[in-house]
Amino acid sequence: MTFEGKYYNGRSSKGMPAQITLRPDGLRIDYCADEVTDTVHWETAGIHQSEFNDATTLLRYGKFPQQSISVVDKGFREALLQCYRGAAFLKSGYNSMLRLWASGIAVMALSLLGLLVAFIVWGVPALADRVALYFPQQYERQLGQQLYTQLLQGYQVDDAKTAALNGYLSELDTDLDYPIKAAVVKSDEVNAFAIPGGYMVVYEGIIDKMEHHEELAALVGHELAHIQNRHSLRALTRSLSYYMLASVLFGDISGVAAVLVDNASALRNLEYNRSLELEADREGLELLRRNELNLQGAVLLMERLDFGSESDMLAFVSTHPNTGDRIKVLNELIGDRKQPYKKNPGLERHWESLKGRNKTKGSDTLEQNQTR
Ligand SMILES: [Zn+2]
Repeated sequence: MTFEGKYYNGRSSKGMPAQITLRPDGLRIDYCADEVTDTVHWETAGIHQSEFNDATTLLRYGKFPQQSISVVDKGFREALLQCYRGAAFLKSGYNSMLRLWASGIAVMALSLLGLLVAFIVWGVPALADRVALYFPQQYERQLGQQLYTQLLQGYQVDDAKTAALNGYLSELDTDLDYPIKAAVVKSDEVNAFAIPGGYMVVYEGIIDKMEHHEELAALVGHELAHIQNRHSLRALTRSLSYYMLASVLFGDISGVAAVLVDNASALRNLEYNRSLELEADREGLELLRRNELNLQGAVLLMERLDFGSESDMLAFVSTHPNTGDRIKVLNELIGDRKQPYKKNPGLERHWESLKGRNKTKGSDTLEQNQTR
């Protein structure tokens, strides 16, 4: 079988018209250079590379100089495959194409893997955040109730102080979409945290630290802001988003709520990002303003929590941004404006019973000169 093609002798880049004949021991190439016809013979074993691109076949032979031929004819390739079945040079071409193909698949697989990792690292928590924002309030409230019940099982609740705190909360003028329920638990830990749907846990340890009810107002104002703005629900769903993803993947939708409830204890040490904390501080301050209480209560609370205590006891501070920064921001928000404030006998009465004191001792209203 003879085919028309081009012969390159490796010394010049000029292709010479050639007739290529397939023979059992190799290729016979009759080419024409400067109107002189010559012949070379390629042994099959010396052909070391083949490339097939559409109709064009390229073969290379020898080392120095490396000769080559190109044939534009689909039939040539089929003839080669038939005539030299199993020959090394045919395999190498086939393999290199296979390798090219495989590396393409590898690149694609790696890209997909990258996308998957990105989705898991950023997408899932972001999705959980969205879910938390659109969660119907009715279900949030139910979920909060379950979380609250579950959490309180790990504590001893002080009934008298709990009643006093709830009395204090009901006396406060707030602007919340949630009915609020709070518990005071017996623990030296200086901590307080919000639970989605309108629930709050305050530790005895933090109440013991405070001296004025305006500090308590600032504390609950901060926690109420976490509830009202769904910070706690968002942080909880974010931190548990992988468990929830697993529940959804395994088709156990009801498991999502179960996962949240099972991990209720996570609420105790949830960390919100800095901007959410400052938002809660700002709104806590607004609560003082709204109730015509001394705004310095918010600053005093911060200072009290920051100084003179073993830092490992201060869970509230450790999960929150730098206290110095928060005090600075609060002072900026308070500004130089004289904010009128007055005594609030209703709040003071509940505060006194929360501190386990009798009202007769006199009230603890924070006076301007007591602040630093
Ligand atoms: Zn907070």
